[in-house]
Amino acid sequence: MAQLQPVRGTHDILPDDYARFRHVVEIARQTALLFGYREMATPIFEFTEVFARSMGETSDVVSKEMYSFTDKGGEGLTLRPEYTAGICRAFISNGLLQHVPFKAFGWGPMFRFERPQKGRQRQFHQIDVEVIGAPEPQADVEVISVAAEILRRLGILDKCVLELNTLGDPESRVGYREALVKYFSGHVDKLSEDSRKRLEKNPLRILDSKDEGDRRLVADAPLIQEYLTPAARDFFAALQDGLGIAGVPFKVSPRLVRGLDYYTHTAFEFTTDMLGAQGTVLAGGRYDGLIEQLGGKPTPGIGWAGGIERLVLLSDPQPVPPRSVAIIPIGAAAEAEAAKLATELRRADVAVELAYGGNAGKRFKRADRLGCFAAIVIGDDELAKGIVKLKDLKSGEEMALPRGDLLAKVKA
Ligand code: ATP
Ligand code: MG
Repeated sequence: MAQLQPVRGTHDILPDDYARFRHVVEIARQTALLFGYREMATPIFEFTEVFARSMGETSDVVSKEMYSFTDKGGEGLTLRPEYTAGICRAFISNGLLQHVPFKAFGWGPMFRFERPQKGRQRQFHQIDVEVIGAPEPQADVEVISVAAEILRRLGILDKCVLELNTLGDPESRVGYREALVKYFSGHVDKLSEDSRKRLEKNPLRILDSKDEGDRRLVADAPLIQEYLTPAARDFFAALQDGLGIAGVPFKVSPRLVRGLDYYTHTAFEFTTDMLGAQGTVLAGGRYDGLIEQLGGKPTPGIGWAGGIERLVLLSDPQPVPPRSVAIIPIGAAAEAEAAKLATELRRADVAVELAYGGNAGKRFKRADRLGCFAAIVIGDDELAKGIVKLKDLKSGEEMALPRGDLLAKVKA
């Protein structure tokens, strides 16, 4: 029955996979905290305007990929396709201007109506880092360093290349835009239909087109570098110097642009050749005009988002160490003692498996299957003597010990 399948492009995350998923989130969170970022969350849905106004009407996300709906109160809402717009909206709504630089870490589900493939889903998850209110290139250096450190701790930094570019400041863009319009206008017949529309509304967007024909034209298009103002040039130089000092290797990719309208100056992507077509694992940039575009006071910002599913695909499976102990009571009186012992051990942070029923043989098998490292056996005899039997499930070695010594022994 189709209704019993998850919706196309969505996935259940079962316990084994969830452990890997959780590992990525935990490493990211801990690393972000080390750099002084604080965790926060915004709602999973926002007024559609929040995304439409910030990401740009001609972006793929806004023009094709948003999960938008009208709720029962008649409000036009959208399931968030990314974190940045929501965090900036929250920055404005909560009047956080006096808290700049505001450094946030977040993670959670995102929604985009895309063609599902390996590493591309309709509900996917991101880790996200943002710094709002810092105009200095040192903020860009820091934001990129957090990302590099997370990838290093996940053991995947050397599977990735950091590609770096500048998109210039708004003044640089004026001249560049003209040059692009001039260039692409000479090749309109070879442009895709989407890109013909982009040519009028937002020619820069053509550079990010995934259409084969467009890409051939883009290969010879003018580069932003020739149109940078001295200030934009200095900013990019300072960023590169800073990354050098921070020991973060990068490659300047003069053709790298990002798919959203709000970027200025820095654009970057950590890419890999190990995930086929879905090669970008983590990407971001500077968005100095965004907060103003959303209706706030002009405030610069920079951030990135990384796809958790892609990070999981790239990282090695995390072995989950079998650290729990099974309690195996034999007889009705021992059942009660087992329950008490379980409470005691768990309170002392020992993971305990206690079956709901079944004979001792079945319970031993289950303990094995769950990978318990030891079993605590209690029968009438042990009860009477105030002892327990502790069996090492790897070596099979068995010992009797006073109940009072059990906790220390198990912890050791
Ligand atoms: P792509 O070019 O792959 O579509 P994007 O530029 O749309 O990526 P961003 O908006 O920058 O992606 O999102 C940041 C990261 O989130 C991506 O680098 C990727 O790891 C992840 N991501 C984006 N869309 C998806 C998706 N549909 N499924 C899984 N992960 C995704
Ligand atoms: Mg995309």
